[in-house]
Amino acid sequence: MTANNQNKKTATTEKEIIEFVAKQRDFFKTGATKSYQSRIENLKKLKIALLKYETALHAALKKDLGKPEFEAYLSETGFCLLEISESISKLKRWMKPKWTLTSLLTQPGSSRIYYSPLGVNLIIAPYNYPVMLTFSPLITAIAAGNTAVIKTSELTPACSAVIRELISETFASEYIAYIEGEVKETTILLQQKFDHIFFTGSPRVGSIVMTAAAKNLTPVTLELGGKSPCIVHEDAKLDIAVKRIVSSKFLNAGQTCVAPDYVLVHKSVKQAFLDKLKERVISVYSEDASRSPDFARIVADNHFQRICGLIDPKKVLVGGQSDAKSRFIAPTVMHDVDITDEVMSEEIFGPVLPVLEYESLSEVFDIVDKLPQHPLACYLFSESSTIQQEIIDTIQSGNACINNCVFHAANPYLPFGGVGESGIGAYHGFHGFERFSHKKGVLKTATWIDIPLIYAPYGKKINILRKIMK
Ligand code: NAD
Repeated sequence: MTANNQNKKTATTEKEIIEFVAKQRDFFKTGATKSYQSRIENLKKLKIALLKYETALHAALKKDLGKPEFEAYLSETGFCLLEISESISKLKRWMKPKWTLTSLLTQPGSSRIYYSPLGVNLIIAPYNYPVMLTFSPLITAIAAGNTAVIKTSELTPACSAVIRELISETFASEYIAYIEGEVKETTILLQQKFDHIFFTGSPRVGSIVMTAAAKNLTPVTLELGGKSPCIVHEDAKLDIAVKRIVSSKFLNAGQTCVAPDYVLVHKSVKQAFLDKLKERVISVYSEDASRSPDFARIVADNHFQRICGLIDPKKVLVGGQSDAKSRFIAPTVMHDVDITDEVMSEEIFGPVLPVLEYESLSEVFDIVDKLPQHPLACYLFSESSTIQQEIIDTIQSGNACINNCVFHAANPYLPFGGVGESGIGAYHGFHGFERFSHKKGVLKTATWIDIPLIYAPYGKKINILRKIMK
């Protein structure tokens, strides 16, 4: 890795973009990406490359986002390494056609589901987890036998430079290509014909992506955001709740799509919860969080200004300090927050945690319902299995955690994705393999017998049909 390459932006031209896509289409047609052997070889190559570039990626994450090394490994490089190992060990099983039942009408025969690659994929990543949200879908695209064009965020130039070098050193661009650029280049990309677009980012840009995809009838996977609620019920184990909420909210300085956006705490435990929350924030990050080695920074000035604008100083329980030069915003808890406050008007995506109170679950459902999007995740702290079930059944969210936050995303056996405005489609592990594959249903009909039921002349055969098809 040549460190002096970092930060150097070189936008890909329109001509290059068109060529990359055309060459990938030709390459895909050769069938070279499809065999088990080639998929495994390329996954192994990517794993070696990630290990080689681990230090450079961590340094770039530090530069772009002030990301502590522990968080960089846990949620970026380590996450991807785990995902590759999982894909390598399970790929044979995933690729195997799956037997399914054959209905009476389609007998005698057998039915299987084959997984075929979609073809040429476009993967667009956001700024907040630039490594994980580039490589996790890429690993899945490779495992499913595809080619891919990758576009990272212009807000993380150091990470983009390392990713560009890693990709171009590891793969031929006819197989995996890296596109450097901003909105202009992404717009050109979106005008091309892809077989699948995998987009991670805001609902606003998600809508732009889906509109462009519709022109070519290209299927999309949209991994978007939303205001994810965290409910702390009266029977919650408060010490555990506070520890888990603090670590998941302030991870990556709150720039996490599945961070608990706001807390709804039961009135009877509100004061005890707030006292513990304040104590925990100070004990983890100290009175001056700007000196904590475990706390990241906001990615860009406009995001810094936006998040600062959401903080009402009169309602700050702990935190509230900021420094524009280093884009530092202290881990901040706001209390006595009302649903009409500015901080409740949009996805916060920063280290600000508003706390609202409730007395009955119907108030919780009302508040979640009034906010604009179906949340990407919903979190509940409660020991009651009845309450747990009620929350799962009632709140429409992409995913949920009981007595935890964020960590559902670390379990590759769970589908990860949104619902409604928080996204379309889910991935991770086999769910991702399915997302990047076409499930081809194949019926094989026996030839040792030819039942004349469906052939004309129909005569009175409808009476037999009525018996079979009811
Ligand atoms: P963003 O939507 O601003 O940008 C995402 C990508 O789209 C970037 O690569 C950017 O260059 C590109 N882009 C921006 N404007 C564009 C335009 N007009 N046309 C075409 N492309 C454009 O998102 P962001 O600010 O980078 O990330 C934050 C958002 O992403 C939050 O809403 C967060 O919740 C969401 N997110 C979701 C997940 C998930 O897994 N569901 C993960 C991380 C982030």
